[in-house]
Amino acid sequence: MSGDKMMVWIDQDLCTGDGICEEIAPDVFEGRDDGLWVVKEDARYFGSTLVFDAENGDGHGPEGSRGVARVPDELIEDVIESAEECPGECIMIEPYNAALVAEGR
Ligand code: SF4
Repeated sequence: MSGDKMMVWIDQDLCTGDGICEEIAPDVFEGRDDGLWVVKEDARYFGSTLVFDAENGDGHGPEGSRGVARVPDELIEDVIESAEECPGECIMIEPYNAALVAEGR
């Protein structure tokens, strides 16, 4: 299944707000109203969109290290490039974690 290899999250405490990540991978990274960036699982790949922006309600999840998004297989290289280019060095890549996804987030 696409999305069961890699996951990603952002440490917002270190984000400089330049948006380079979204320029490279707009289906994974999204700018938030406060000028910091967050990760998301886009409906194009996962059926429905889940944004890890710490907002309340359906379609939203926690930010920071608790907001870990699945990365579509097609976008793995773009996410790695985003992490390499990120001036804040705050894009954290992790192996896929089935238990985390099963928690329902
Ligand atoms: S590239 Fe890094 S520092 Fe820049 S907006 Fe994205 S997460 Fe923040």
